[in-house]
Amino acid sequence: MPFCRRKCPYCDFKSIETKSAPEERFALCLTKELEKITGEAGLHEARLSTLYLGGGTPSILSPDTVASILDSIRSFFKPDKDLEVTLEVNPDTVDLGKLTGFRSSGVTRLSIGFQALDDRHLVLLGRAHTAEASLRAFSSAREAGFTNAGVDLMFAIPGQTLSDWEATLRKVSALRPEHISLYGLTIEEGTPFHGRYAKGRVGLPTEEIEASMYLMAKDMLTAAGYCHYEVSNFSLPGFESRHNSSYWKGAHYLGLGPSAHSYLSKPLWGSRWWNIAGPYEYMDLVERGESPIEAKEALTREEAMLEALMLGLRMVEEGLKTGPFTQRFGLSPMEAFSGWDGLLSDGLVEALSDRVVLTRKGLLLLNEILLKLSLKGA
Ligand code: SF4
Repeated sequence: MPFCRRKCPYCDFKSIETKSAPEERFALCLTKELEKITGEAGLHEARLSTLYLGGGTPSILSPDTVASILDSIRSFFKPDKDLEVTLEVNPDTVDLGKLTGFRSSGVTRLSIGFQALDDRHLVLLGRAHTAEASLRAFSSAREAGFTNAGVDLMFAIPGQTLSDWEATLRKVSALRPEHISLYGLTIEEGTPFHGRYAKGRVGLPTEEIEASMYLMAKDMLTAAGYCHYEVSNFSLPGFESRHNSSYWKGAHYLGLGPSAHSYLSKPLWGSRWWNIAGPYEYMDLVERGESPIEAKEALTREEAMLEALMLGLRMVEEGLKTGPFTQRFGLSPMEAFSGWDGLLSDGLVEALSDRVVLTRKGLLLLNEILLKLSLKGA
């Protein structure tokens, strides 16, 4: 859902700032795209386990529009009885009435973009809401009956100190959201933040402080009863995001709308495709009955192995499971990649009987770890 009330200066997503999104037109395009793709890919009546409305800001849609999108999607597939339906919410776009409407439309889970709980940081991030609006959105979500509500937070914000971050984590864990996602602020090229902060990270917390913030979050949230199940994600037991977990576990997914990515693990080593990014270009193409797909690729065995490695290591406790990897590729991860010895002796990964997991030190260095592993014979 590529529309936002206000464009945040750190965001490189191709969303459009608008006071009123063309929601009816957009919803019709999603249905039209779905009809075309399910027909072409033979996906009619496929099982539907999870649905995720992400953005942009999908919560600027009215509950009626969300209901029509969900009804339409459900009608194309065989939805599971416990279908997980997540809606991303920006605090400035909802009130109790709207959240109640989303719940009636079939949304079962919310992901609320707090980002920070200090107005100084929210202003710096250019967010369109205050900390109070975030807390109000969360309590309205509870009042509307949501028993599965997550919160997104950012750290390493300009000017943020370790004690600021500690205070944020305390306030958030006291709310007991079922899920917490944490992202370190990244400075993306082409954004206003890039011009402001790229040269020497002036005003940004140092990399050491950023690492301390991450480990502080891990320690505080796990002490508060949260499971650290994925590098950036924590949940109360049983409340892992089923949708995101299915990406990390290599399940099929179908993406609709501009910039959406799709993946099928068959034929052979899997294939993926993605849509063009421009929202209006997307709608024009779909309305003309043309495909909005920008590109497709079939994965090679090597690419599929690298992807399984990367996704597996992101799962903090489950790790990269050696059995399924070996079954799929005919080689264990230890046989497929070189570089493990150095990582093991540096204490970055740990080899258990049935899986490989990142250590506490390794969690901070996933990208470096992936660079040190290379496919044998490649
Ligand atoms: S609300 Fe989200 S998608 Fe929209 S501009 Fe801000 S960060 Fe980007």
